[in-house]
Amino acid sequence: MIRIRKSQPTPAPLPTSGARHLKKLKETQEADPPACEVAGNTLLESRDGIYNDARVKERLRADQHDKCCYCESYFSSTSYGDVEHFRPKGGYQQDTTDALHKPGYYWLAYAWSNLYFACQLCNQRFKGNYFPLANPASRARTHADSIAVEQPLLPDPATEDPASHLTFVEDAVQALDARGASCIVVFGLDRPELLKRRQERLKSLKQARFMASLDLSKPLAPAITDFLQELKLSTADAAAMVTEAQRIWDEAALDSAEFAGMTRAYFQRLANS
Ligand SMILES: [Zn+2]
Repeated sequence: MIRIRKSQPTPAPLPTSGARHLKKLKETQEADPPACEVAGNTLLESRDGIYNDARVKERLRADQHDKCCYCESYFSSTSYGDVEHFRPKGGYQQDTTDALHKPGYYWLAYAWSNLYFACQLCNQRFKGNYFPLANPASRARTHADSIAVEQPLLPDPATEDPASHLTFVEDAVQALDARGASCIVVFGLDRPELLKRRQERLKSLKQARFMASLDLSKPLAPAITDFLQELKLSTADAAAMVTEAQRIWDEAALDSAEFAGMTRAYFQRLANS
């Protein structure tokens, strides 16, 4: 998880169709507040065609460099992402033992600041409707309440730096405080498949770093010359590999790199450059 810069202006159709439907949702809630709190009711259901519009998805993917907002995995042609509501729109749960409470943050269903792009595992298997607060009594329950008084246990990546709450030791994610601990549980950041992918990424970065340090402009040690012969590599081939390794290393900790949070924690020099 790293900081995400949301671009402006708000993409269509959030300010148009989204604003129109939001007006209806507010009117529905004001007409009968208790009915909107009944378990399982669908009175304040949002329209997924609005927030799932291709223009919204494209902008989120671009702002997030094609990575999941939580686990930092790249989306690929085989793994589709979901438009994710940071504050859940349909209902909320304080913790894993909590029932689903209605309504959710329906008034943020089309709010650009509340939308991210998440991988299906982070979104569907883990985060779901969880939105834990340090002070559940201050939770905003309707559009008349203010979310500013809430103290969410999950940092909002657009307004806070997750690195203040989470770090990595090698490929293992570690909490720096209670909010970091919530992120690990709620987003499943320590799930085995993710650990394996971070492990592979770290290994390939170490190899790139090592490879990039080779200076082919100087006479090569006999062992390296033998090695190149064994691999049937010309000096030009080897030089191209060193250049490629240097590029991988140079880009390793950019916002656009997969698992940049882990890379910054492991290679402090990259974090500070
Ligand atoms: Zn994810």
